[in-house]
This record gives sequence, structure tokens and C-alpha cells, in this order.
Amino acid sequence: MTEQSAAGDAAQSAGTIAFLGLGHMGGPMAVNLIKAGYTVVGYDPVPAAIEAARDHGVPVTGSAVEAATGASVILTMLPSGRHVLEAYRGSGGQPGLLEAAAPGTLFLDCSTINVTEAQEAAAAAIAAGHRSVDAPVSGGVVGAEAGTLTFMVGGEDDDVATVRPILETMGKRVVHCGAHGLGQAAKVCNNMILGVSMIAVSEAFVLGEKLGLTHEALFDVAAHASGQCWALTTNCPVPGPVPTSPANRDYQPGFAGALMAKDLGLAVNALEHTGVAADMGQLAARIYNSFVEHGGGGTDFSGIINSIREQSE
Ligand code: NAD
Repeated sequence: MTEQSAAGDAAQSAGTIAFLGLGHMGGPMAVNLIKAGYTVVGYDPVPAAIEAARDHGVPVTGSAVEAATGASVILTMLPSGRHVLEAYRGSGGQPGLLEAAAPGTLFLDCSTINVTEAQEAAAAAIAAGHRSVDAPVSGGVVGAEAGTLTFMVGGEDDDVATVRPILETMGKRVVHCGAHGLGQAAKVCNNMILGVSMIAVSEAFVLGEKLGLTHEALFDVAAHASGQCWALTTNCPVPGPVPTSPANRDYQPGFAGALMAKDLGLAVNALEHTGVAADMGQLAARIYNSFVEHGGGGTDFSGIINSIREQSE
């Protein structure tokens, strides 16, 4: 059997996927599932998101509960843990997904949320007779559109095996990180590295400027020396050395400052929950919160270099 026909068979046998949250990420992810032959029913409370999804061929319904009824997998791609827990349990007297779903439904949450919220969501799903996997992503909107996301996955082996073909349709890498919540744990640890390293790279470029180094000279050294990292060699915060980095297009995201501030907030929650002494992670969260407060939320997170430069004048 070819890889393509195996993927097609997986799509045929997967049943219906209820896709809740058709925003920047969820919209194109749902489209990729449809293109691969999956049966998808989408829902989003925002009419513009519904319209965009419908225009791209995603069938939509009038409520989350309607979408969930009869689904084998309920995939959520929502802004925060509060949204996920409210959608699962219901709110304002409205029934939630846990109640609407048939017993044994697999709840697949791809949102980025607190580790503790992911564990709470999994426990609630299991207590209601369902199955649960957390699978946050990295790769951004570009990766969602191209189907090249990385999924960091937490859950039981059998459940992860069930959703793997679905995740492989929307991404190029699926890493099973361990038990419930450990997908979120991997995401939060990775993005704490990213936030701290982007600040470090940006501070180094501004220091280099003050010392008379050209951006090219510092890049040529650090990119091949021990300062090498993704923040430098892929998302370089100064224009020039890496033509595809957001710095070359006036810091259009890319990965928005607001999302970095959100993810560092989740990291801080995890640090406080575990008692880990991570001064750099805590400081990075404060620096990105201030960046957002001063208007950087909509620009790429590498725009932090401009705020460092302004404060250095
Ligand atoms: P978004 O705000 O564009 O989309 C979220 C959508 O969820 C919105 O359209 C909203 O109306 C909808 N929604 C809210 N409550 C709902 C409910 N009860 N039922 C159905 N839909 C509901 O956000 P996004 O950029 O698509 O991000 C989604 C998640 O992915 C977030 O947790 C984010 O942190 C994470 N993420 C985003 C990126 C990125 O680059 N945008 C990258 C990695 C991870």
C-alpha cells in the first residue's frame, strides 16, 4: 500500500472530526484535514471565521454541541485554557462538549494552555467516559497553512496512536512527550528557551552596534560559534543576515509578541507551580509583557530588539 493510500484509508475510517476554533491556526488546519479526505464539521462563534472556513470548503454548524454530536474526535484550537474548560463543561447554563459527545469520544486539544489546565481537561474528559490527548503546536500560521506543524503530544499510547494520522495530516512532526499535559509541558519549556534566547540575541546585536560591530560581522561569527541558535540563524532580529526573517519586513509576524507574552505567562505559571528557580524565564516574561504594553503585541517577537535599542539611547 502506498503512503498516500494508507493516509486516505486513515481518513475514511476516522469518522467525523468536530473542529472547534476556526481562527488563524484552526482555519487552515481544518482545510488540510478536508483536503486529505477527512470528514470535518467546524464551529466558531465568530461569523467571519465561519465564513472564511466555509469559503475554503469546511462544512460548519451552528453550535459547538451540534458539531460534537456524532463526532469520533473533538479537536479544539482555542485561545486559552479557560475557553477549553468552558467548552468541555459548558457555561451559562449551556451543556458542554463532554455531555454532548458519545461515550469514548477522543478529545484532542491543540490549543496552547497551562499544563495544569491540560491535566484538568484530560481528567474531566476521562471522568465523563471519554479519551483525551493534548497536542499543542509550533510552526505558526505558515506551518498551519503548509501542513508542516510540529505537534507535542501528551496522552495514553493507544489514544496517541489513534490521533497520529490526523496530526500527521496537519503537521510534519509528531512527538509523544509522555502522559496527559506533557505535550503542553514541552511547548512551554521550548518557548521559554525561545523567549530568553531572542532577548539575548537582541541585546548582543545592540551591544555590537554600540561597540562598532556591523550586523554582518557579528552574525558571521555567532552563527558559526557558540552563540548559534534559532533566534539568531532563522529569526534574526536585524534585517540583512537572514533575508527571510521578519526584521526584513518591518517585523510583521511571524510569531507575534502577544503570543510570546502569552506563552511566557504559561511558563511562569509552571515555574511557580513547580518551584523552579528560573530567573531568566521570569525576566523574559516581564520584558515581553512590557513589550506588549508598549504596542509590540502585533509585531513579530524579534521586534524586542527595537525596545532594547530605544532603552539604550
Ligand atoms: P485565534 O484567536 O485566531 O483563534 C481562536 C478561535 O477560537 C477564534 O476564532 C475564536 O472565536 C474561537 N473560539 C473561542 N471559543 C470557542 C468555542 N467555545 N468554540 C469554538 N470556537 C471558539 O487564535 P489562533 O492564533 O488560531 O491560536 C489558537 C491557539 O493556538 C492558541 O492557544 C494559540 O496560543 C496557539 N498557537 C498559535 C500560534 C500562532 O502563530 N497563531 C502558534 C502556535 C500556537
